[in-house]
Amino acid sequence: MKQILPGARIGILGSGQLGRMTAIAARSMGYRVTTYSPDQDSPTGHIADIELTGDYDDVDAVRAFASSVDVVTFEFENVSAAAAAACEAVTLVRPAGRVLHTTQNRLREKTWLRNHGIPVTPFREVVGPESFIGAPYPAVLKTAGFGYDGKGQAKVIGPGQALTAWADAGCPPSILEAFIPFQREVSVVAARGADGTFAHFGVIENAHRNHILDVSKAPASGAARAAEIARAVLEGLDVVGLLCVEFFEAADGTLMVNELAPRPHNSGHLTIEACATSQFEQHVRAVCGLPLGSTEYWRPAAMANLLGDEWPSVHGQPGEPNWSAALEDSRIKLHLYGKAEPRKGRKMGHLTALADTAEAAAEAVVAARARLANS
Ligand code: AMP
Repeated sequence: MKQILPGARIGILGSGQLGRMTAIAARSMGYRVTTYSPDQDSPTGHIADIELTGDYDDVDAVRAFASSVDVVTFEFENVSAAAAAACEAVTLVRPAGRVLHTTQNRLREKTWLRNHGIPVTPFREVVGPESFIGAPYPAVLKTAGFGYDGKGQAKVIGPGQALTAWADAGCPPSILEAFIPFQREVSVVAARGADGTFAHFGVIENAHRNHILDVSKAPASGAARAAEIARAVLEGLDVVGLLCVEFFEAADGTLMVNELAPRPHNSGHLTIEACATSQFEQHVRAVCGLPLGSTEYWRPAAMANLLGDEWPSVHGQPGEPNWSAALEDSRIKLHLYGKAEPRKGRKMGHLTALADTAEAAAEAVVAARARLANS
């Protein structure tokens, strides 16, 4: 088993906050980091010692990037198969390009889950207008590719509305999925080492606002079954690295997989403060072939996302949130991703709190976030 030891160079395809926090973990372990993306002055680029700029579809540039590093990992999932293959031709890629290929497309992902006996939200492929007849409604129409944070999704109550929504979107490759009146949304962030060892961070409970993750808290109940499913996914896909399984929990407690993300995940940010090993360090350990770290929680924790919406507008210009007010509670930790422009819906940072219970931690982070608006 090839180990990539500290001092070696990790290449991160993508340059957002996930890459940034992975790079922070990698740099603190003594690795060098190159990031590749179309952006300059990026959240990951602030931490990496080399920031390369190029298009994800520029196969020659992606190959040149890959050949300059010891291992490539992704923080951006929609990398083309050609770009992933170009990396694999010249260096180690973890997780493998074929994991990305399966998980970057909802139809391939859900079909894979169903074929492997893993409980998944009931869905059908949209092959034409006839696909909308006889489906269970209400339903959610989702584009097969390039969907995240609710993008490319529409809730539909019947075949007529479904057909109109599909046609209005230009008839893209899509799936029609049953709308699940879930009682909870939960996730399991798990890692698989190069030697097949498995570790997970338990169940994290997630609340969304406008389809975007809002607040996560952990540890939450139901870990045994959810972890068993996560293990089946990571082993079935032969993942080396981190993968997050997002679930819906029905009223009777049944778990269904909604989505897979083969990378660190927003719901796992609280592990930075809460756990012996953060999800980012775990990812670095896994992709470098090092032993996985302990996922033990020091204390229950919660995380609240900070979207661009939190930035006040002063005479039409973005003002500054009241950081000092948020940090009045000494349990609150602030993470900002170094993004210059606070656009609406853009993930700018997050707050974390540790407390005696996950609920108390959630109350603390939500209250701290509300104080950002104090004048
Ligand atoms: P996704 O991009 O598929 O993760 O969806 C974003 C959010 O939309 C989810 O976290 C849910 O809150 C909601 N959602 C997506 N699919 C469904 C569904 N089939 N039933 C109910 N809510 C859904």
